[in-house]
Amino acid sequence: MKHLIHCTVALFAGFLLASTAAGQAKPLAGADVAKIYERLLKQIDQIPIYDNHSHATFPDDSDMDAMTGPPDESSVLRLRDTNPEFAVGAKALFGYPYNDFTPEHAKWLVDKKKAAEAAGGTAYWTGILDKLNIETCLANRVALAPYLDPKRFHWVFFVDSFLFPFDNHAQMAKNGDMGVYIPLQEKVLQRYMKQQDVSGMPDDLAGYEAFVRQTLTDNQKKGGVAMKFEAAYFRSLYFRDPPREVAESIYAKYHADGVPSEDEYRTFQDYIFRVLIDQAGKLNIPVHFHSAVGIGDYFSLRNGNPLNLENVLRDPRYAKTKFVLIHGGYPYTLDMIWMTAAKNVYTDSSLMGYYVYPSELKNILKQWISLFPERMMFGSDAFPFGDAVGAEETFWLATRSARTSIAGALAELVSEGAFSETTALELARMYLHDNAAKLYGASK
Ligand SMILES: [Zn+2]
Repeated sequence: MKHLIHCTVALFAGFLLASTAAGQAKPLAGADVAKIYERLLKQIDQIPIYDNHSHATFPDDSDMDAMTGPPDESSVLRLRDTNPEFAVGAKALFGYPYNDFTPEHAKWLVDKKKAAEAAGGTAYWTGILDKLNIETCLANRVALAPYLDPKRFHWVFFVDSFLFPFDNHAQMAKNGDMGVYIPLQEKVLQRYMKQQDVSGMPDDLAGYEAFVRQTLTDNQKKGGVAMKFEAAYFRSLYFRDPPREVAESIYAKYHADGVPSEDEYRTFQDYIFRVLIDQAGKLNIPVHFHSAVGIGDYFSLRNGNPLNLENVLRDPRYAKTKFVLIHGGYPYTLDMIWMTAAKNVYTDSSLMGYYVYPSELKNILKQWISLFPERMMFGSDAFPFGDAVGAEETFWLATRSARTSIAGALAELVSEGAFSETTALELARMYLHDNAAKLYGASK
């Protein structure tokens, strides 16, 4: 009898082992992967998108960004207007009758967009979202445009200008990029001062801090759903933690005139940065960071690496602040997803979703979704690269790339035995819509 029990247990254990082995994920997808991909993509196309990051705009609107690209920057292959995908996008959106963007052909498209801009109203951009099944879209802008329906486009405002209140000649002289970027930051700061009825630089740091905090509060009241740092373009994303007295004496010394040393300016920025994210936590408004490669001739990859932010993201003082690291930290995408192990940190696939082709985006998304699927969001980074290839075509390119890439990543995982197709669709919904809807829904 004892022997029999022993045998039964052994048999049962053997059965368990066999069933575990059968259910364990395999390293290679099976022959069914293409069929699974087709089934998933059909469903994924039906998911309305929540776009975490865009620059929905006509190309000649100066409110579209707080900065601009310097003239000599080099573009990645896929974003050049020789990319035949853009003509396919223009066909899908507008019935563009050509297969290239030679100047004579591109005129057809430029005229169509100019006519839409002249016509006014919100129907044009709402129509673009409808065609691509985008439900809600965050728009990074200095101010929300009258041609964007605030029900569909939610405003993300820029805050870097608060880091540049002093004489900036030494900053601008650093390189050609800074010479273009910093005057624009000064303009945004002037605009915020006018908006807040602040006639000159406040007399002391307390006054400047009050101005900063009040501007954020008022921007949120005007519909702002997140604030954005493009700081990686101007300095390192590593922020030290200087005592207030030090920042106070720097402010006292330079708020009226005088050029601060590099270290003084940076120390002051490190302090004001912390005022900004503290206020974001109090207002429950997520903080966006450009954290990836960037345009320009002098962009520093090291400065933009998301790991620079680790001391801030893991600081218990900011546990209530929600951080969204835009552009997936690209090319540091594996570092990036591990930063989102913190419950208040999120990332999105914007920019990299059109820098690389879907075969590569699929691999990145496959790794992310296998680790922290609750923290990743879709972002288009739709941007007007020129008069012909506009934000409209980049919306198209980014949404098509993301839908096919996530379908490919999930099809492989299903075929490898990681989870069912039902789970796969649930994960796709989280990435394309639900994670963002939850984040910004909760922040209102
Ligand atoms: Zn962007």
